Amino acid sequence: MTIHRKPLKEFARTKIVATVGPACDSIDMLTKLIREGVSIFRLNMAHGTQKTHGEILGKIREASDVTGIPVATLVDLAGPKIRLGDLGEEPIECEVGQRFEFVRGEIAGSPHHLVSIYEPLIDEVVEGNDILLSDGLVRVKVIEKKADSAICEVRSGGLIRSRQGINLPGVKLSAPALGEVDISNAIWASKNGIDFISLSFVRNADEINQLRKIVTDAGSNASLVAKIEKPEALENLEEIIRATDAVMVARGDLGVEIDIEATAVAQKVIISMCTELGKPVIVATQMLESMHTSKRPTRAEVSDVANAILDGADACMLSGETAIGEFPEDAVGTMYRIMLSIETMVAGSVNWANQDEENHGTRRISDAVVTAAALIANEIEAKLVVIGTEDGDSALLKSKHRDLIPTVAISNSPETVRKMCMYWGIIPLNGIDINQTVQLHEMINQWAKTEPDLDVGDSVVFVTDSDSIEKAHDMIIVGHIS
Ligand code: PEP
Repeated sequence: MTIHRKPLKEFARTKIVATVGPACDSIDMLTKLIREGVSIFRLNMAHGTQKTHGEILGKIREASDVTGIPVATLVDLAGPKIRLGDLGEEPIECEVGQRFEFVRGEIAGSPHHLVSIYEPLIDEVVEGNDILLSDGLVRVKVIEKKADSAICEVRSGGLIRSRQGINLPGVKLSAPALGEVDISNAIWASKNGIDFISLSFVRNADEINQLRKIVTDAGSNASLVAKIEKPEALENLEEIIRATDAVMVARGDLGVEIDIEATAVAQKVIISMCTELGKPVIVATQMLESMHTSKRPTRAEVSDVANAILDGADACMLSGETAIGEFPEDAVGTMYRIMLSIETMVAGSVNWANQDEENHGTRRISDAVVTAAALIANEIEAKLVVIGTEDGDSALLKSKHRDLIPTVAISNSPETVRKMCMYWGIIPLNGIDINQTVQLHEMINQWAKTEPDLDVGDSVVFVTDSDSIEKAHDMIIVGHIS
């Protein structure tokens, strides 16, 4: 049987997503990061090849087996990310007032020429547009448009390098949501048992539906994650959240695509809509940025992680901190401790009334049942709620209520167990046939023996499917550890 590695009292409810890179791609380090609290590993397809990601995937699975802790994987598709081409010279210093000319082609022929891998760039910008380079640090304005070039003047200076991202705030690009490479990576992810597939630069629900079709056609049931980082995505937020399985507040590009000072509000708006619609949401980028090179975070970073959790984030993500940072283990451990420290304040702070009119039928019944289970657990001071679930839905519903009662969710589907790695407050366990209530009880008795915080006689509230009443849905049983 699988056990989680920390006693219940030290179990952080918010989940950690860690990006894999050279700083942590050994089995040894992956194992350490799982023990420190990582629930999901992210493979960023903007770097590496399918072959190298395949090797890492094997190591993640081995590390999960070594620890006995279920861990999910997330493949992050680059989407329509626009980049500079080859500048010829590295780096180029852009000084305020200096002029550059964007020309066609992938290699710049002169130091005053800039090129992009996105061919229609010159056709789609107009005079007055801002083009942002170097993560928004360098801003150039289009001052003259010609048939085959766009002349730009530098308004904020800095250094630029080949292949860096280009952001065009306010410019509606014709780039398809999924290019050839993304489609190939989505199929690869689907055929390799990846649990979550995220799409960068989502603009509308249709793009999520396109990805869903590719993934389903490839025979996968992976959950889709919409990365919100474009102003268009904020305009179409509700339809995107309804279409997707989960959301990422991708603050890196979002902070370049919209005014940086507006990102905090955007984060709150996105999380609050995810809470309302019952979808898990990850807050990403620069959460513990200084830990790239420092063993301790700044006070502001500690507050950032804590506040994301108070906003209602289900998971927080580490990017460079674990992928290329000097202290990946400390970054995970620090994030975990911040989570533990703030979570007692979360109960009741995230108000999920589940009033979405699309929550009807069995979902509504399951929601009522898990709510009742939590009430019963509170009333009788039960130490644990146990949810038996086939697809993880009841666990997700329970998770969104943000009660602090330790909750184990058991499924006999390994895919469901890994999906539940994203759900706030849920300890996912590989299990037995969840309809066999006697066996389920016995499994929890055995599991409780590994738990210092559980004793014989402690009350447990079970939520399971019902096989004793025809066409019945969920069942609540109150039992004890024996
Ligand atoms: C982001 O922009 O915040 C993000 C998570 O995406 P990426 O790491 O791919 O830039």
